[in-house]
Amino acid sequence: MNNKLTLDTKNIEMVVKKNLCTGCGTCAGICPKNAIQMIIDHRKGIYLPQIVQEECSNCGICYNICPGHEVNFKLINNEFFGQEPDDPLLGNYLNCYTGYATDYEIRYNSASGGLITALLIFALEEGIIDGALVTKMRDDHPLEPQPFIARTREEIISASGSKYCPVSANIALREILKNNGRYAIVGLPCHLHGIRKAELIMPKLKERIVLHVGILCAKTISFLGTQYQLRRMGIKKENLEKISYRGKGWPGNMTIVTKNNQRRITKLNDYYDDKFGSFIPHRCTLCMDKAAELADISFGDAWLPEIKRQDKVGTSIIISRNIKGADILQKMVGKKQIEIIKTNSAKVKESNDFSWKKTEIRARFSLTKLLGKEVPDYHQDLLPSLPNINAIVLHSQMFLTSRRYLWQLLEIYSKLLKYGSFIKSKLKL
Ligand SMILES: Cc1cc2nc3c(=O)[nH]c(=O)nc-3n(C[C@H](O)[C@H](O)[C@H](O)COP(=O)(O)OP(=O)(O)OC[C@H]3O[C@@H](n4cnc5c(N)ncnc54)[C@H](O)[C@@H]3O)c2cc1C
Repeated sequence: MNNKLTLDTKNIEMVVKKNLCTGCGTCAGICPKNAIQMIIDHRKGIYLPQIVQEECSNCGICYNICPGHEVNFKLINNEFFGQEPDDPLLGNYLNCYTGYATDYEIRYNSASGGLITALLIFALEEGIIDGALVTKMRDDHPLEPQPFIARTREEIISASGSKYCPVSANIALREILKNNGRYAIVGLPCHLHGIRKAELIMPKLKERIVLHVGILCAKTISFLGTQYQLRRMGIKKENLEKISYRGKGWPGNMTIVTKNNQRRITKLNDYYDDKFGSFIPHRCTLCMDKAAELADISFGDAWLPEIKRQDKVGTSIIISRNIKGADILQKMVGKKQIEIIKTNSAKVKESNDFSWKKTEIRARFSLTKLLGKEVPDYHQDLLPSLPNINAIVLHSQMFLTSRRYLWQLLEIYSKLLKYGSFIKSKLKL
């Protein structure tokens, strides 16, 4: 295994060709010639980079910082945390908590406990940062996300809530590289992978990003997933004015406003089912980081039975990974911006299932290789797993979700799967 940083002169097209692009946008954000754009591939429902050949200087930076084909966890953990993690599921960490923002409006309108929004506002108002890389939905194209640098409380609030669609968040690194200042970034594990790789070779970026906020992520959903949901609701995308995937309490609701000002609200648990959840981009199935291991501090939903039973507003799970993350939490507690209770790693694992990304991934890697496709290099051994057929089930679901004309079969297939697992449980297989 190579744990040293080596630089290459290939470009990002190689990654796209091999189906390994995460769509994170790092290449577009850091390209010194501004020669890369993130474009939606409408057939696949994902973002892919496109090189403007006349502008490209073949410097190879885009390939070297790309997390799609390679993330050297060993090297990055040693560089930024001074060690490799003891816990292979959570990554390096200092402490775990559950908690929420004390501002009721922020907590109620955000994805879970409103902690990310509250933390960014706090960091901005205390002068810790000058801006934060966040993502809202576009006003002019409501189904497309818009990553941007928020510089006011209102802008941070406008981006709260989870976006269950592809997000090329790291295109906004362009602004961080252009303008002096200290920044926080908010991203999924794939965004963090790209940013940490870029920081390894771009000291300016490393100096300016003073806080890395990670979002726990089981998987993202392609744009086709939202289209499927709109179709289920009988809404034409041309009639859509606004969409919000989470918020208004916890677990929260999808809110859709149509052009004739009708408001349709669907509970998260009613739309985020096995069908919506199977609109996964291919590269997402090859990701082995759920806890956003390379962040300074990671946030997820506190899906714990004792909390779910009584909380209807929102509670998050928190993993603080270094002094920077721990420090800002303590300052926020001191100023009564958040309420947190210390918990342990076992509770984090109870709140979220780590098997899909950490053990079942082994079968998905094998299947992908068997189909003659490439897998990313993590410079890390995958955890052992028991043999199971989930990779094949997922693959067949993805065959249906990636073809609009087969969407009707998804319903039947899902019923068959439910029936199959019912029989399996009766036969105690
Ligand atoms: C695709 C996806 C999958 C997730 N999977 C899980 C999971 O399996 N388990 C779990 O516990 N939690 C998961 N989460 C995280 C959870 O939904 C909340 O985001 C998290 O608990 C933080 O809540 P909050 O109230 O503090 O965030 P908020 O205060 O609402 O702030 C959310 C912040 O995240 C940013 N953001 C939202 N969506 C995206 C996106 N797609 N890409 C980049 N930035 C974004 C926004 O800009 C905002 O700053 C997922 C989130 C997403 C977007």
